[in-house]
Amino acid sequence: PGPQLPFDPSKKTLVVLGSGWGATSLLKRLDTDDYNTIVISPKNFFLFTPLLPSVAVGTLSPRSVLQPTRYITRHKTRQVSVVEAEATSVDPVNKTVTFTDTSPLRPLEPTNTIHYDYLVYAVGAETQTFGIPGVKENACFMKEIGDAEKMQRRFLDCVETAAFPGTSEEEKRRLLHMVVVGGGPTGIEVAGELHDFLEEDLKSWYPELHPYMRLTLVEALPGVLPTFSKELIAYTERTFKESRIDIQTATMVKGIKPTSVLLKPKDAAEQEVDCGLVVWAAGNTSRQVTKDLMAKLPEEQSNKRGILIDNHLRMLGAPSIFAIGDCTSTSYAPTAQVASQQGAYLARMFKLIARRDALEAQLESLMVSKKEGEDEFVKEEAIKKKMDKIKLKPFEYSHQGSLAYIGSDKAIAELPIFGREWSSGGVATFLFWRSAYLSTLFSFRNRMLVAGDWMRAKFFGR
Ligand code: FAD
Ligand code: NAD
Repeated sequence: PGPQLPFDPSKKTLVVLGSGWGATSLLKRLDTDDYNTIVISPKNFFLFTPLLPSVAVGTLSPRSVLQPTRYITRHKTRQVSVVEAEATSVDPVNKTVTFTDTSPLRPLEPTNTIHYDYLVYAVGAETQTFGIPGVKENACFMKEIGDAEKMQRRFLDCVETAAFPGTSEEEKRRLLHMVVVGGGPTGIEVAGELHDFLEEDLKSWYPELHPYMRLTLVEALPGVLPTFSKELIAYTERTFKESRIDIQTATMVKGIKPTSVLLKPKDAAEQEVDCGLVVWAAGNTSRQVTKDLMAKLPEEQSNKRGILIDNHLRMLGAPSIFAIGDCTSTSYAPTAQVASQQGAYLARMFKLIARRDALEAQLESLMVSKKEGEDEFVKEEAIKKKMDKIKLKPFEYSHQGSLAYIGSDKAIAELPIFGREWSSGGVATFLFWRSAYLSTLFSFRNRMLVAGDWMRAKFFGR
């Protein structure tokens, strides 16, 4: 038995995997009257990822950037089944999804398999480690809410351990050296937020430790933020320099040990640098369930970076699967903006698909009744005409710009205005960054919580 409530055999079954940007944007707009809708995700909430680094340093509290998936589905006209479980395999031929309840309350991890007519595959990606030794064991990631909480615990532990009476100078210097790996937007934002915490809060709470604090950002490429304009890169580098964040470009992290990080600068020998905390923000890779699904369609799915889709977001080789967001490999960057536009597009398409399916069913019942005559012919032609009118337009992405927080109450922005790219950086851009994200938050509840947290941090510190 599957979680098929409320199952209506006259409607198609739509299974949605994931509760992130792509899936949530779809669920918000989907007309659930048209389908038996089942959502499967190991997290029963949506995470507003752009503000995750702020959670890591305590500017925001975790609940402010989370929204329960049932908060959206409970307002739907027809009941949606939400299952907290991890999809472990998808069979694109028999159209089934197998999923497992990974809760520690269920040591046997019960498994279930359900059939789908349409599958929205929006499981995102996981953090890329390149198999570099010690990354999984010794670094903190910045992808899930648990990662931000882990990072916060770790660096507060570093600070309190450094403050312990009798800690040597050398040990204080090590514990208070924080290293961020990856000069993409995630790494830059984490470094900026960490800097704010160290300067605005720790400086006054632990003045004796301030001289020992050091922040390093390591990037393998010759520069940071490769997708931003040259001016904004230069502005970020200048701001980091003023903030005493050391940027080491053209330097590859080769390994991470419990108390140090192995760096290999392009033209120099490998060096071991002591540190108390390493945050790993080195990009994305496909999840195992995605790799397994792609392996079932070797001819069509030959790209290692992710699922290949057509311009209607259908998985090549499996037209009943719609893949969106970070699990796909497209010409777009793996961003929330792309995933949410794809989710919104699919909601519109599923309305048309439901209409087309209903007409197809009418046509089929006419055929089955096998009545012949002028009336039947006219009915059949009328249905076919209606079906012809249903046109599924291809997905078109509309870029709304890029924003990133770089610390010290400064942000950078690249916005397309009247067909031209407009760049800006500074405190005014930071205020714009805040208002843009506040308005993008999915619910009024989250907006109030985030605004409240900002006020709290401003007046009382983190
Ligand atoms: P996700 O949002 O990651 O959602 C994936 C969902 O699938 C999750 O709910 C997960 O629990 C679920 N899932 C995982 N495994 C399974 C499974 N086996 N079965 C079922 N469900 C599963 N983008 C921007 O455009 N602007 C930004 O400012 C920005 N800031 C970011 C900051 C950070 C720190 C990070 C990490 C990313 C940021 N991004 C930003 C990128 C953005 O978050 C991603 O591109 C976006 O989350 C992709 O959406 P998605 O739906 O594909 O995946
Ligand atoms: P990314 O892929 O953009 O950057 C990762 C960086 O890590 C790369 O520059 C890579 O060269 C570097 N790296 C990899 N291995 C390394 C190693 N061993 N040593 C040193 N450096 C190494 O990843 P991201 O920053 O997590 O971003 C992922 C996606 O999410 C991107 O599409 C990004 O645009 C989006 N995002 C956007 C925002 C924003 O718009 N504010 C914020 C965060 C993420």
